[in-house]
Amino acid sequence: MGEPLIIIVSGPGGAGKGTLVDELLQVESRIWLSRSWTTRARRDGEPEDAYVFVDREAFEAKIAADGFLEWTEFLGNYYGSPVPSPDDDHDVLLEIELHGAQQVKKRHPEALLIFVMPPSREEQQRRLLGRGDPEHHVAERLRKAEDEEVLGGRLADLVIVNDDLGRATAELRDFIGAARAARR
Ligand code: 5GP
Repeated sequence: MGEPLIIIVSGPGGAGKGTLVDELLQVESRIWLSRSWTTRARRDGEPEDAYVFVDREAFEAKIAADGFLEWTEFLGNYYGSPVPSPDDDHDVLLEIELHGAQQVKKRHPEALLIFVMPPSREEQQRRLLGRGDPEHHVAERLRKAEDEEVLGGRLADLVIVNDDLGRATAELRDFIGAARAARR
């Protein structure tokens, strides 16, 4: 088996990254999902293990201890990926925003960056409102998406438009399969 892959899945809020990653993990047992830390409050109905939810003090202590592979401040909260410790020869998947993705690429140029786009702004807005984000947050995320999509398109190794979950998952699997074959 070749070197484990570092797979970064990025994209604006409401692109459906989480759903796509869930689908992928159901069929790819070799992938280890990194669990991020955040200072954001847990949303109603969000699983308790969606993140390691911490306060700013705990987050800053982990920064000081060099405990993050990357971290950023996004819409007023900290988010960071702990230095990964997957089991042997598991590929690592990070679901993170673009600033963090750039930090990982700098440290690991061989990491694969997949950028997920929503099918349309209307659908993205519908998804964001549907998960219970307050309306001003939704507006902010939609504004941010405009810049993210320009940068993401430039940096990504693969851009996936998430209009059909089955097709998008297949596209992602094919890409990962090809990357694995190339590393052997
Ligand atoms: P949300 O608040 O919607 O869960 O996440 C906001 C954004 O932060 C999303 O784009 C998500 O992918 C990103 N994010 C989640 N965890 C991390 C992380 O550990 N590092 C970075 N840089 N971004 C993250």
